[in-house]
Amino acid sequence: MDLNYTDEEKAFRDEVRRFLAEKLPARLADKVKQGKTLTKQDHEEWHAILNEKGWLAGNWPKKFGGAGWDAVRRHIFEDEMTRAAAPRIVPFGLAMLGPVLQKFGSKEQQEYYLPRILNGDDWWCQGYSEPGAGSDLASVRTTAVRDGDHYVVNGQKTWTTLGQHANMIFCLVRTSKEGKPQEGISFLLVDMNSPGVKVRPIILIDGEPEVNEVFFDDVRVPVENLVGEENKGWTYAKYLLTHERTNIAGVGFANAGLENLKRIARAERSNGRPLIENPYFAARIARVEIDLMAMSITNLRVISQAAAGQAPGAESSMLKIKGTTIRQEINALTRTAVGPYAMPFVSEALEEGSNLGPIGPGYAASATAQYLNNRKLSIYGGSNEVQRTIISKAILEL
Ligand SMILES: Cc1cc2nc3c(=O)[nH]c(=O)nc-3n(C[C@H](O)[C@H](O)[C@H](O)COP(=O)(O)OP(=O)(O)OC[C@H]3O[C@@H](n4cnc5c(N)ncnc54)[C@H](O)[C@@H]3O)c2cc1C
Repeated sequence: MDLNYTDEEKAFRDEVRRFLAEKLPARLADKVKQGKTLTKQDHEEWHAILNEKGWLAGNWPKKFGGAGWDAVRRHIFEDEMTRAAAPRIVPFGLAMLGPVLQKFGSKEQQEYYLPRILNGDDWWCQGYSEPGAGSDLASVRTTAVRDGDHYVVNGQKTWTTLGQHANMIFCLVRTSKEGKPQEGISFLLVDMNSPGVKVRPIILIDGEPEVNEVFFDDVRVPVENLVGEENKGWTYAKYLLTHERTNIAGVGFANAGLENLKRIARAERSNGRPLIENPYFAARIARVEIDLMAMSITNLRVISQAAAGQAPGAESSMLKIKGTTIRQEINALTRTAVGPYAMPFVSEALEEGSNLGPIGPGYAASATAQYLNNRKLSIYGGSNEVQRTIISKAILEL
């Protein structure tokens, strides 16, 4: 196993760096660095720039308009994007639905929806979770009942990230109550402008309406919006999750967070000296940095295996747990480092058009928001408790 980049991969990394230096708008990078809320227009602007270069869908095959990169190139690209403080690519259409349509969608669905994802004509959101169906996803209760050439959908989805921006939602719906719960689920594409769809924001602990509840009341969906076969949705749902869980380690985010933390710890004072020289604080930074270095190597190992054609197994669960706990520890240390300036937390100050100045140094403004927001990391994408169960079964054989 070779964990070093080849000359071609290094040349690719340099090309990505040059592109980002030239094309990433400073306004967007500043917002990302300051932890400000990105608007729908911000995301669309950045997607359009990447799409023009042909780099929006690194994971898609070329025949569908993607860049067709292997696992190593995708890793390099994601790493450079976070280093440059580029907005994260919104994953729902590109990383989640796209691969499902490419593998299981009809020709008509591929020809219609895939270009629309690339061009930003549709903003997709993910309608998997429901009240009572999160970790136990097979318990979905939202029903889709066939009525002529339509399905009639009734029920509720929840935690729908950025659903307020979306015009389309891909849903897991119950089309049969026979057999095992997994055998009666279908994968349906729903136009959110259909009569009977209602979106209600959930304000998270950081004050932001990042997620939503979505209600379906007799929503009529054409049968051609069914992906693949009726009652086979569980297979497609699981396939999608393997794509959702790529880049799960979030090494780039952790590196950027650690650099920021060190910058702050150099600027802040403790007993008349820079905080970074405080032995207790320095030891905590060292601890998390060592964990991050170890995880980065594990991540490269998994990527190297993926590039050699092996599907990652329980390693994904290890990366999920380590990646998220490392980022949460960096958030906690950052909040500690800014001390009392973390207390007067004003979420509006991070929004577009706010004229509220930061209370304290600028770098303190988003410390609490990020600490609070990133509680989510150990919940979504398969909670860390569930990942531990996977490890205990697959590796420890308990
Ligand atoms: C910010 C955020 C954004 C999200 N975005 C989306 C989205 O866009 N679309 C979407 O469909 N979903 C989304 N989700 C939902 C997410 O996938 C679920 O929250 C997650 O799967 C956990 O499900 P739950 O919330 O129902 O908690 P539960 O499954 O009820 O779990 C509650 C607690 O019990 C633990 N637990 C559950 N089962 C087990 C078990 N078998 N063994 C040990 N412990 C267990 C869990 O770890 C957790 O601590 C989002 C969630 C968050 C927080």
